[in-house]
Amino acid sequence: MSLISFISEFPDEQSCKNKFKEYRDQAGVVCAKCNGTQHYWKSDKEQYECKKCKTRTTLKSGTVLHKSKLPYRYWFITMYLLTSTKKSFSAKEIQRQLGHKRYAPIWHMVHKLRKTMGTRDEEYVLAGRIELDEGYFSTEIPAEEKDKPLKRGRGSQKKSKVIVMAESEVVESPKPGKKPRRVGYLKMKVIDDLTRETINKCVKELATDATEVDTDDSTSYTEIKNYIPNHNSQVIPKDKVGEILPWVHIAISNAKRQLLNTYHDIKPEYLQSYLDEFCYKFNRRYFGESLFNRLLFASVSYKNEFRYKYG
Ligand SMILES: [Zn+2]
Repeated sequence: MSLISFISEFPDEQSCKNKFKEYRDQAGVVCAKCNGTQHYWKSDKEQYECKKCKTRTTLKSGTVLHKSKLPYRYWFITMYLLTSTKKSFSAKEIQRQLGHKRYAPIWHMVHKLRKTMGTRDEEYVLAGRIELDEGYFSTEIPAEEKDKPLKRGRGSQKKSKVIVMAESEVVESPKPGKKPRRVGYLKMKVIDDLTRETINKCVKELATDATEVDTDDSTSYTEIKNYIPNHNSQVIPKDKVGEILPWVHIAISNAKRQLLNTYHDIKPEYLQSYLDEFCYKFNRRYFGESLFNRLLFASVSYKNEFRYKYG
């Protein structure tokens, strides 16, 4: 959506609220008390009422906006900013754009939207041929480790480990100048260590339908052949990474560049949420202008799905 059409479609709070309700109606409202899905809309109260047990549900409750006191328009503008470019925005920058006094509620809003993106992507598992590698992202040293003596150089930074997987099919006869592999879905997951156990758990969970995998010859990967039928493991010289694992390599360097450009310091515990945003947008790179609507839809249906999934 262009900025011009965004502004004319959502000029005020009411227009955002109307759109939100339209999407919420489509996604369906589930009664928290009896799980009923039939509701009346009480327009005077701006609440749903369960046809079975009369329990009221506010427009926001059960969605990502649950308990948020911020205007709908803030959420809409933020969703617009997050989906309108490949770049990202820090909560600080969004706070500035919205002209809001307090940082904390804005931070929570942005964080919840990123979480929504991550939750949405959890619905997909990787299939077919995949590339697998690990990346090391600079993050802040956690407070409890700060009293330890600092290392030389970038002493306040540590490297967080991230497992990166991308669907990557071989292109039969690539056109000149085109890549020999075609990328599908991408996954990035922050992990505590590179033990075989951790890697196995992660790969099994995120790449359930993979049939072939390319990796370097790291000992962390030696058990992968037990659950992915074809494992191509090889020594990869540094200058060949882009050839053998082209897409994970591109994804890692793009994600790193984006994080560097957007944030001053990244706390390790929030790295996953930034990567979720990166992957969400990467995985929807052909959605174009509909990305805003997709995120809006995910935001109204998020809690319901969460409940169905986890009871
Ligand atoms: Zn009910």
